[in-house]
Amino acid sequence: MVQESKLNVGILGGGPAGCLAAYFLQDYCNITIIDYSSILRTILPTGGGRCNLAHYEFDFKELAKNYPRGEKFLYSVFSKYSTAETISTFEDLGIKTYVQNDNRIFPESNSSKDVRTKMINSLKDVQIKKEKGLRIEVVNDKIKIVTDMNSYYFDKLIIAIGGHSAFEIVSRLGVNIIAPAPSLVGLVTSQNFKELAGIAIKDVECCGIFGDILFTHKGISGPLIYKISSLKARDKKPYSISINLYSKEIALQELLNKNPHKQINNLLSEYLPLNFVNYLLEQISIIKTEKCHNINGKQRDLILDIIHNFKLDIIGVNKDGEVVTSGGVDLSEVNSKTMESKRIKGLYFIGEVLDIDGFCGGFNLQNCWSTAFVCANAIKNSNI
Ligand SMILES: Cc1cc2nc3c(=O)[nH]c(=O)nc-3n(C[C@H](O)[C@H](O)[C@H](O)COP(=O)(O)OP(=O)(O)OC[C@H]3O[C@@H](n4cnc5c(N)ncnc54)[C@H](O)[C@@H]3O)c2cc1C
Repeated sequence: MVQESKLNVGILGGGPAGCLAAYFLQDYCNITIIDYSSILRTILPTGGGRCNLAHYEFDFKELAKNYPRGEKFLYSVFSKYSTAETISTFEDLGIKTYVQNDNRIFPESNSSKDVRTKMINSLKDVQIKKEKGLRIEVVNDKIKIVTDMNSYYFDKLIIAIGGHSAFEIVSRLGVNIIAPAPSLVGLVTSQNFKELAGIAIKDVECCGIFGDILFTHKGISGPLIYKISSLKARDKKPYSISINLYSKEIALQELLNKNPHKQINNLLSEYLPLNFVNYLLEQISIIKTEKCHNINGKQRDLILDIIHNFKLDIIGVNKDGEVVTSGGVDLSEVNSKTMESKRIKGLYFIGEVLDIDGFCGGFNLQNCWSTAFVCANAIKNSNI
């Protein structure tokens, strides 16, 4: 009987996506990972060092709603591999998980270092080359990759270089790249909040979503702002946002009538932090120590307007969040059933290098695991 020879598969980039693809393929193909850095270095800071590796959402269409870029593309990917399969794969790797009360899934060890060690230990039959990929060429039916030290020829090459890399290595092949922009970041405002830095306000509303915000030296940050930065990642700056700082109704006139001798800042500090109230009152030229009985109807309306409609001008981003890249390999160039390039046979894209990015909560790693599986499965099946 003639034994089918194993495919030689190269993986450029040993981050979460590249390493999981290697794990899935190592029993079926000869695998070489090429990474100029230590593999899985990029998993260490995830989830604040705890590795938020997935999200407790088992309906794949609901799961896909958490990706401002890539939702439709991910339907097919997630229908094959999503949260349940992720939990099971990590169990196979010896990593038990638990669900936090906000539905984020973490390893029981609460340690991305532990996840990294176990993932690296699972790679038994994989060659690792600490080299930088410089150029990719198609030579007959092989894919050649030139690094800073060597040249390699592979039957298949998986590109898993993430979103923070130079995309030229891919664009030189004629693959279209959607211009990268940072997402899940703090926002820089034209307003100066230096004196308010550190003040957090809970459960405010912006663009129809609720969450917490935090003032910083450069502007504004916090979970809600990361989400806004994601939704608006492709918007041209400057742009304006309006925040409802207190989403319930405030019966201000009634309160003013009931507390005529109270200072207006103290009255409002029942709703918002005092320092911040002082800032708001200054913006609308009301003396912060003014007694409530001196606040007239026009001033009352100004107060309500600035609380429910606090306008900010966004002039830039401050990379203080998860920092993922919106942009990358144009999804119209990739077959969502296999992750193979539609232009170049044998070339695959997985993980954050794709024009896919999700909100905070485990969604970006889920994209890595799922696209790695779909790609590995397609390569396995192509060799049968
Ligand atoms: C601070 C922080 C916290 C995060 N926390 C979470 C979280 O809790 N949950 C979540 O879901 N997501 C989180 N993310 C996002 C998540 O880490 C990324 O989406 C994920 O790492 C992307 O994986 P990847 O394998 O596609 O690419 P990367 O992780 O970027 O890996 C790419 C690899 O390719 C290598 N490489 C690049 N170019 C070349 C080249 N030319 N030659 C050789 N090697 C190359 C790099 O060295 C790197 O090792 C976080 C991100 C950050 C920055």
